[in-house]
Amino acid sequence: MKNYEFWFVVGSQFLYGPEVLETVEKRAKEMAEELSKVLPFPLIYKVTAKTNKEITDIVKEANYNDKCCGIITWCHTFSPSKMWINGLASLQKPYCHFATQYNREIPNDEIDMDFMNLNQAAHGDREHGFIAARLRMPRKVIAGYWKDEKVHKKIADWMKAAVGVHVSKNMKVMRFGDNMREVAVTEGDKVEVQTKLGWQVNTWAVGDLVKEMSAVTEAEIDSLVEIYKSKYDIATDNTDAIRYQAKEEIAIKKMMDSEGCLAFSNTFQDLYGMEQLPGLASQHLMAQGYGYGGEGDWKVSALTAIMKAMGENGNGSSAFMEDYTYHLAEGQEYSLGAHMLEVCPSLAADRPRIETHHLGIGMNEKDPARLVFEGKEGDAIVVSLVDMGGRLRLICQDIVCVKPIMPMPNLPVARVMWRAMPDLTTGVECWITAGGAHHTVLSYDVSAEQMKDWARMMDIEFVHITKDTSVDALEKELFLNDLAWKLR
Ligand code: MN
Repeated sequence: MKNYEFWFVVGSQFLYGPEVLETVEKRAKEMAEELSKVLPFPLIYKVTAKTNKEITDIVKEANYNDKCCGIITWCHTFSPSKMWINGLASLQKPYCHFATQYNREIPNDEIDMDFMNLNQAAHGDREHGFIAARLRMPRKVIAGYWKDEKVHKKIADWMKAAVGVHVSKNMKVMRFGDNMREVAVTEGDKVEVQTKLGWQVNTWAVGDLVKEMSAVTEAEIDSLVEIYKSKYDIATDNTDAIRYQAKEEIAIKKMMDSEGCLAFSNTFQDLYGMEQLPGLASQHLMAQGYGYGGEGDWKVSALTAIMKAMGENGNGSSAFMEDYTYHLAEGQEYSLGAHMLEVCPSLAADRPRIETHHLGIGMNEKDPARLVFEGKEGDAIVVSLVDMGGRLRLICQDIVCVKPIMPMPNLPVARVMWRAMPDLTTGVECWITAGGAHHTVLSYDVSAEQMKDWARMMDIEFVHITKDTSVDALEKELFLNDLAWKLR
């Protein structure tokens, strides 16, 4: 994981005297240290804030600190909230209000008015909560005892969503070629996306990539092929195709790294000068945490990179996915997802195989090498970002991935099979009603709640299709959302 950190800002005031403030500071430090041992990122105690200036100063510092991905506040005592207004109003980092208490239990014999004044989070956190509500601030409220594992999980999940905000604000996407001709859902307003999400989406010529490819050495290819062999089974005699994919991967990676890009897109309609659509190349780049979108879909590419960064160890099981075809047998209703080549091996149930097959679509002179595998079983989500004109909508659907119910021996690509919530047909009706794309990010380790938190922090619309969603309720929600977002 990168050097990310979060800051612990504790609210108090002068009313209780220096002894109470010393105790608050001592305990806050202890809590930050203990929590840092169990959270995915360090929580750094910063200040016990008692004045408007202390709060404003720490917010300014947080805004300009590249390592700080968010602040977590807590009020051990009462902390009058008018002194928080100037600071909070200028906060540009994710914000979590942690409503907790130093002691777990009320000590029956010990409790007196001094104890009450020192340990009044129940009181102080309400005052603190009001001002964020009044300021209409995007925030996460987490309540619970600070030593409880389920509280740690909630904070950890929020921290990862906040890291997703950081990655988003630094996102650069390298586009090779434009979007696939005539396709609507992969389009989007690149100025709006940069304003709202921070993404820098720009184009590079396929010719530049071909030039970079011709500079790749045989030795560079040899060493990447060795890495392929260590991670995947070779199930083809066509070593030229594997070497060609290695050359493509090395060239794409060099170009992305030199520009600081974490995501890329290309299209089969624009491969002039290349023998093969990058398949294995794109798949192995995704395995390293880069985002990818087919057919020029830069939105899904950037979102893939962000969700990977939000996952386990900063490169989780999240991947570019496409809804392909349905199995509609009653009681056995499933979606089959895949892509023409580019499915990330982080989804694989077993060790992937490298195969070569003819690819009829696009301008492939030669058969491209690709990784073929089945997706893992388990609970997951699919997520789609669409441009509604004037605003972005993030659609998230709960799914359950299953072992594909048939071997499909002639299908030459990686495949994932799942049951969408609430059931296949209602789920499809909901997805289509909301305008969700055929391209998604499928993730096993980022939750819908994390995507909701991310959408809130990015200030974009969030739609969640769950086991309880009905088409009727969703239609009403979308209608009201439309009104609400037009008023903003
Ligand atoms: Mn596609």
